[in-house]
Amino acid sequence: MKNELEDMSREEFAARDFSEKSALRERERKYYAEKSEEIGLKSLERFLQYHPNPSRFMKLGFTYAHRDLESVADAMANGKPWAVVSGLNPSAPLHIGHKAVYDEVLWLQEQGAEVFIPLTNDESFVVGKSKTLGESRKVAYEEVIPSLIAMGFDAERTHMFVDSDYPDIYNVAMDLSNKISLNRAFGVFGFQMNENPGALFYRSAVQIAQILLPQYEEFGGPKPTVVPVGIDQYPYLLLARDVAEKKGFVPPAGLFLKFLWGMDGKGKMSASREGSAIFLTENTNRAKKIIKTSYTGGSPFADFQRENGGIHDICPVYTLRSYHFEEDNIVGEECASGQTLCGDCKKQAIEDVVSYLEDHQSKLEEARSRVGEFILKTPIRSIFEE
Ligand code: SF4
Repeated sequence: MKNELEDMSREEFAARDFSEKSALRERERKYYAEKSEEIGLKSLERFLQYHPNPSRFMKLGFTYAHRDLESVADAMANGKPWAVVSGLNPSAPLHIGHKAVYDEVLWLQEQGAEVFIPLTNDESFVVGKSKTLGESRKVAYEEVIPSLIAMGFDAERTHMFVDSDYPDIYNVAMDLSNKISLNRAFGVFGFQMNENPGALFYRSAVQIAQILLPQYEEFGGPKPTVVPVGIDQYPYLLLARDVAEKKGFVPPAGLFLKFLWGMDGKGKMSASREGSAIFLTENTNRAKKIIKTSYTGGSPFADFQRENGGIHDICPVYTLRSYHFEEDNIVGEECASGQTLCGDCKKQAIEDVVSYLEDHQSKLEEARSRVGEFILKTPIRSIFEE
């Protein structure tokens, strides 16, 4: 049987490929617009207008919306205390998608935030991403925390904790659990009956405890807090805001970040899909190979791309270069005008990534010796007051 592509001219093939890519771009645009409207998010336009030096991700639109950022903006402008909570699941080393999120957290720290980073090895275990609690604990201490330290967080104002080694977080979860009804938790998360019962306690109480921890007396009491999240994590923020109100805390704000495309172009960058993520502790030859073979928004036919430009909005090489390595949106402009073709663009991406990985990896040894400076040990005693 003949393959239908065999009957197509190269122009027809390129045009079809491009129209599929354009449809993908439209789908992504619609997804963010509809979701933002559905949950009532605000654009960052006003914040960008008034902040003297917004983050590069805000300017590029990677950080694209917020929920109640006003309380944080006020604290930021007036030098009042405020916090950021940005946790992650330590089932694998940090990848370049995490780097984008923590670059944003670093910017928030430069604006005055106290940073809290929970490493949720309990979640890795409960949802089956790690076989044992010990396995994800090891990844947390040996890979994730050193990488975060090497990124440049300030030890005086950064508190990291691995959930299973900071049992106080479970006491806080207990303290908050009577402010949450099962009805509300089911409504927000939509649990499946075949899920592990640990998932119910984790999502409806432990995760909320992590978000509200900076507002406990031990850290100076109620204060504006912001959580950088992907739109899929909105339910946690919603529940944390409900509980904060009942507890007399400031409802936490949300800063919404887009998903970073995996290098395989098959969706969000993920450690579990081969060819999707570039890890910060990666062998540079493997990183080169991933970029060389990555999906793009370009055409296999150079003359077609020169004439029509590429579709950078859906291209992981574009997000890699513009989010991490270029000051202006020059990559997007050169791609859309057809001035740069994918081969040269990937070559530059490889140079930038390899140089970043070499620099990052050269800092890991010292970072490993500093882990103790960043680990949160503060006992939470206020919950035991009678
Ligand atoms: S030129 Fe670069 S940004 Fe444009 S589609 Fe190709 S790889 Fe992507």
